[in-house]
Amino acid sequence: MRQKIAALKNLSRNLWWSWDTEAKELFKELSPLLWERVNHNPIELLHHISNDELLARIDCEFGEKIDRVSARFEKYLADTDTWAATNTPSLVENPVAYFSAEFGIHESVRIYSGGLGVLAGDHLKSASDLGINFIGITLFYKEGYFRQYLNQDGWQVEDYPLQYPESVPMEKVVGPDGKDLVITVPIAMSEVYAQAWCVSVGRAKLYLLDTNIPANESHYRDICSRVYGGDQNMRINQEIVLGIGGVRLLKALGVEPAAYHMNEGHSAFLTAELLGRELAQGRQLEEAKENVREQCVFTTHTPVPAGHDRFSREMMHYSFDRYLAGSDIDFDDFMKLGSEDPSQPNGLFTMTVLALNLSRSANGVSKLHGEVSRDMWRHIYAAESPDEVPIGHITNGVHAASWSSGYTEKFWRNHTDSIDTLTASTEAAEEVLSRVSDEELWCLRYHLKRNLVDFVYRYLSNQLFHQHAHATHMEMDSSKSAKNPLSPDVLTIGFARRFATYKRAPLIFSDIERLTRIISNPNMPVQIIFAGKAHPHDDAGKHYIQQIVENARLPQFRGKIIFLENYNLGVAKRMISGVDVWLNNPVRPMEASGTSGQKTALHGGLNFSIPDGWWPEAYNGENGWSIGSGEQFDNQEEQDRHDAELLYDILENQIIPTFYERDERNLPVTWLKKVRNAIATVAPVYNTHRMVREYAVRYYLKG
Ligand SMILES: *Cc1c(COP(=O)(O)O)cnc(C)c1O
Repeated sequence: MRQKIAALKNLSRNLWWSWDTEAKELFKELSPLLWERVNHNPIELLHHISNDELLARIDCEFGEKIDRVSARFEKYLADTDTWAATNTPSLVENPVAYFSAEFGIHESVRIYSGGLGVLAGDHLKSASDLGINFIGITLFYKEGYFRQYLNQDGWQVEDYPLQYPESVPMEKVVGPDGKDLVITVPIAMSEVYAQAWCVSVGRAKLYLLDTNIPANESHYRDICSRVYGGDQNMRINQEIVLGIGGVRLLKALGVEPAAYHMNEGHSAFLTAELLGRELAQGRQLEEAKENVREQCVFTTHTPVPAGHDRFSREMMHYSFDRYLAGSDIDFDDFMKLGSEDPSQPNGLFTMTVLALNLSRSANGVSKLHGEVSRDMWRHIYAAESPDEVPIGHITNGVHAASWSSGYTEKFWRNHTDSIDTLTASTEAAEEVLSRVSDEELWCLRYHLKRNLVDFVYRYLSNQLFHQHAHATHMEMDSSKSAKNPLSPDVLTIGFARRFATYKRAPLIFSDIERLTRIISNPNMPVQIIFAGKAHPHDDAGKHYIQQIVENARLPQFRGKIIFLENYNLGVAKRMISGVDVWLNNPVRPMEASGTSGQKTALHGGLNFSIPDGWWPEAYNGENGWSIGSGEQFDNQEEQDRHDAELLYDILENQIIPTFYERDERNLPVTWLKKVRNAIATVAPVYNTHRMVREYAVRYYLKG
């Protein structure tokens, strides 16, 4: 028995559990209520249950389940017959060091803000599954990203609940001397100290640097308070700790990476540390730069200008004063490496430019984004045409096992070995689908939607409780209990992501009368679920949220349009699995890739999207809908009008009639055909196993 408790605790300390359905069930079954309350955090769950209680809970059946899951876990860790062992053996020997300012691995580890972090988390998991020796580097944010509340006016309010190291499955890293491993990084005139932590994610390790330790002056303790928190000064401090501190950490660990992968420009200062090393060995600047380039690869993630960090010359001078004094790097040489225009030595220092200048390869995250990036950065290379710009692309994906709900995963396991058959190839997916009847497929869809509808009901009850229940979304009856506003029989559209303004969340409200007619058609009703956070400094994004909440309160939309607070990985999992249609209407070509629609397709949801990011590659006319074919207008109002018009047309004339067209069995056969097509064409391509294999073969292996 004691052994089984130890096994359970052991499982809780490696996030592998988060993509194993049965492992998740183990924790949930211990106490479903507590499991919800602790935000699906097994460490906290086990803190709340005494060993005596555990002993009482572990009956024969539960004990067998622990044994089964533990055996699978141990086998996973010990497996040497992996994709990497066969295909990229050098990446088993030396690790890839992957730097990212955020990692979205599970909702209980709050060190992510949005899509970039989720992608990093999925990358880490797939690298582990494929057997690549892989190390993630990031910061430990004690306040994480904010928790979102909406006030009475529908205005976003941010709250920063603390996250304690004891509640996260992370261990202090101990140095060779047996003491806590603390990394030192010079910032401005000070030495800043960072404690290193380690989180196990399957076979991969994620290291987190944490400046919140007593050795630091108080303002430096706060560097790692919040994901993308604070002002420019905070930002540069975070990026120095991440980049320079991260490389120093690897050195202290005795790790020699096969490649340094910069996931977005935030970590690009790592190249300074590598450059300093080269110069210290007596190399000339050009040769030193070339040697750094040999070690680094870079992925750029956005065409949005504000998404690229830029620091003034003064700030660079102030922050790097001591660091550069202790190295052989000349300040002006350094500034040039980050300058968009070397003839303007007093211009801004751009992290993306530094990363482009000092990596052997660079890529965007979809075919379209590759094109956009080549055009966007062509001046850096003094290229005559974008075709000469050495920026390629690898289209993003999602980690299928993490993103399939327990129900979906079991459904596919009833028809084939595992969800991985669906992601293996279109032929394999089609073969599995050919053994699934229309009835079964519809049953899956209906069940997932009913789960979502139930979830929304519970979630909203909570949300309204703390909003002091001025029945905004739900009708309250006299007993003060709310009735479920949504129905699993109704066509359900989902829209959830960060509320960056280019994503145009309120676009569907452009014509309220027309939307009213669509939503309120008694024969073919529609319901829409929204969620998403605006960055705390982004008032325009917050206005978008408010606009949606206010619209949702209009009598004709009440209970049919819902805004769920505090979008996070857990809410995302519910939404992407339950909705019929996943709506995405960014301003083209601002969406570098987008991944949430890929998650939906794993569950048979259909994408309805502007042809931006990954969608133009995947869309084939039958596996969802494209909002136009990329018509672009200079005038934004005209663009919005055009896109909204198309959105309504497709909704009214195609999506809604197809969903409600039923055969004699009451099945929407045309719809189900699209569902099959979507699963077979999206799942095998838009997953991180394919994506990480591409990174490994094309970028991590030395040319
Ligand atoms: C997948 C995901 C995203 C990314 O969504 P996009 O459509 O790519 O913008 C953002 N946030 C969360 C919580 C996610 O799970």
